[in-house]
Amino acid sequence: MKAKILFLISVSLVLIGPVWLIVRSPRNNNDTGQKKIEVAASFYPLAFFAQEIGGNRAKVINITPSGAEPHDYEPTPKDLLSVYRSSVFILNGGGIDPWAQKIVPELKARGVIVVNMSEIIKMRQEIPGEPSTADPHIWLSPTLAEEEVFAISRSLIKADIQGKLDYEENRDRVVNELKAVDGEYRSGLSSCRQKDFVTTHAAFGYLAERYHLSQVSITGLSPDAEPSPQKLSEIVKIIREKRIKYILFETLVSPKLAQTLAYETGIKTLTLNPLEGLTWAQKANSVDYFSVMRDNLKVLKTAMECS
Ligand SMILES: [Zn+2]
Repeated sequence: MKAKILFLISVSLVLIGPVWLIVRSPRNNNDTGQKKIEVAASFYPLAFFAQEIGGNRAKVINITPSGAEPHDYEPTPKDLLSVYRSSVFILNGGGIDPWAQKIVPELKARGVIVVNMSEIIKMRQEIPGEPSTADPHIWLSPTLAEEEVFAISRSLIKADIQGKLDYEENRDRVVNELKAVDGEYRSGLSSCRQKDFVTTHAAFGYLAERYHLSQVSITGLSPDAEPSPQKLSEIVKIIREKRIKYILFETLVSPKLAQTLAYETGIKTLTLNPLEGLTWAQKANSVDYFSVMRDNLKVLKTAMECS
């Protein structure tokens, strides 16, 4: 894995050497004929916020493609070239995009403005004091997403001071929408029979914290960590004791475990989207961060039997 990343970085550097000056010069033009700034983000929610704030002044590239999830995505040399040619690079940190973390020093040395959310927002740690147990899923709390939006707008202003007013106007619009979503969650989840919800991987810790819910996850912080038989039997016990009626699985991860568990306990499944990426179909249907957050709220209200 490490060797592969180093190889990709060296390949990209070889590519970048001769083309560096070429790719830095011509930029896309926006409606007013000005050059667009190029922005790269390691995965969906960061790219979505950047495009919303950047509007027609920015061209944003999402490195993790539709249909893929960021926990195990490895960038291609072409992806890395897109990162190196951008004016601003936005990463999450906290273990979800390790390739991005590794290239930060090189990007900074080349003058790319880097926004690393794990340095801006204090992450929860499953085991306090152990950074390797950091929970990276900050975008699923609308209030923490607001902090991300402010950090992104600051970086765009730094890269393109002439667009300051546009970026601030767009930022305020996104922040207002996040505040509206937060209000909908607070009222929608204020009166529920259940406090616990069962998910595939532990992506909803910040969301649970914000709305006083309790997440029971099958696989832990990363979707590819296999649960032990003991962990599975503990979850079965919780489902039976608390009379939980639904298991919530994801769009980009195999639903097999969740379905097996649902079959074994005789309960139903629903989809709760951790927003780590969209499928191609969702992208084609103009699904976005806000529509998924609202769909997730409906699912949570059903699963948790809210009135
Ligand atoms: Zn995740």
